[in-house]
Amino acid sequence: RPSILWFRRDLRLGDHPALLAAAADGPVLPLFVLDDALLAPSGAVRRAFLLRTLRALDADLRRHGPGLVVRGGRPATVVRDLAAEVDARGVHVSADFGPYGAARDDEVADALGDVPLVRTGSPYAVAPGRVRTGSGHPYRVFTPFHRAWVEHGWRAPAESDPAAVDWVGAPGSDLPEEPVVSGIDLPEAGEAAALARWEEWRGTPYDDVRDRPDLDATSRLSPHLRWGSIHPRTILAGIDARNPHAATFRKELAWREFYAQVLHAWPGSAREYFRPELRDLPYVTGAERRRRLDAWAAGRTGYPIVDAGMRQLLAEGWMHNRVRMIVASFLVKDLQVEWQHGARHFMEHLVDGDLASNQHNWQWVAGCGTDAAPYFRIFNPTAQGRKFDPDGAYVRRWVPELADPSLGDYPEPIVDHAEQRAAALEAYQLLRRHG
Ligand code: FAD
Repeated sequence: RPSILWFRRDLRLGDHPALLAAAADGPVLPLFVLDDALLAPSGAVRRAFLLRTLRALDADLRRHGPGLVVRGGRPATVVRDLAAEVDARGVHVSADFGPYGAARDDEVADALGDVPLVRTGSPYAVAPGRVRTGSGHPYRVFTPFHRAWVEHGWRAPAESDPAAVDWVGAPGSDLPEEPVVSGIDLPEAGEAAALARWEEWRGTPYDDVRDRPDLDATSRLSPHLRWGSIHPRTILAGIDARNPHAATFRKELAWREFYAQVLHAWPGSAREYFRPELRDLPYVTGAERRRRLDAWAAGRTGYPIVDAGMRQLLAEGWMHNRVRMIVASFLVKDLQVEWQHGARHFMEHLVDGDLASNQHNWQWVAGCGTDAAPYFRIFNPTAQGRKFDPDGAYVRRWVPELADPSLGDYPEPIVDHAEQRAAALEAYQLLRRHG
């Protein structure tokens, strides 16, 4: 009797605790469920990258057995039916801590009846909820979370070996065609590509380059972490050996884990203000909001570093972290558009779009998150551009008409930053006095 290994955000075969657990019980049937509830809200770019990652996983599985079984439909029905069809011993998964995933898994466990749903491992080095304050509460502030997370530590990578597994198959459907994402340069997908990228990058002196979009030298592992084609523990185990700035890089990975535990503890924080008083700031609505959002999304605000970032997002499905902060601040504070609108645009276009990291980084920039940047810290897009893109190389790459007007007209600034800054600060002071 086989065990089913149901893949979700763990699309790899190495360092896979749930695969080890499934294989300990005998033959393993690898399954992926095309779940509309998850696929429909992802933009074409993330869906295309997911499908490529699945094809790579299928190819890796075919080296050792019949390949990935793909079925479409509601997970509770699909998993229950397949378990009955093959008389499964159990269904193994890596635990999902997102609001949708956790509820879905409870439903699947119920539907399975006597067949156990076994959760082993998670997409994180330390499972959300494991690290808590002295009084047993989830952390709201990053710095003490980070300290406790490092102290808690993590296991060594799991030694899962796909060659040693007795893989079995079942009838399934083909993977759907990738959505057409014209003009987009997607990164290479799959476990081998993720490991190769990590190997190639891991000696990079991170502190020197991490804030410089022009140098473009961060790891670009985010899409792989999103789908689990590499596990953070593999990264953590390999980082110290070569990187002079291992501690800084480890801290960035900790932000990902911090936001996952925030979402786990406060599932509403994906949509609602963590600090609700900021909801009452004077945001624009209606047609004016549409006009501003459209200009921002198209990279036509008249602020070069903002426009460069928004165009990089459309062209690559990715944007440098420093520029994500600049464009998010600009939308909320200069254009007075509520953060959820920007977060939705990011989720639609980012290949690494991740609910926990995206929504909470937006809240951080908007000043309303867990331990957010104070609202009154308003980025000056011109000064930021000068500081982090000192030679203008990043801007020239994405906004070529600035250097060569024959390529088209560059718009006048959509708003005046100094005026908008003063207005935002005044509104904030009023809110604090009367709020
Ligand atoms: P590196 O600098 O090489 O960092 C390594 C890894 O650390 C990243 O892959 C990521 O997993 C993690 N990391 C780094 N910075 C952060 C951070 N601030 N928060 C959480 N994790 C971090 N990241 C996403 O993965 N998905 C998102 O949807 C997302 N949305 C964002 C929205 C905004 C407004 C902002 C300001 C940041 C967002 N980030 C998001 C965080 C960060 O910008 C990306 O993780 C990073 O740019 C990915 O590139 P990299 O892999 O080269 O990063």
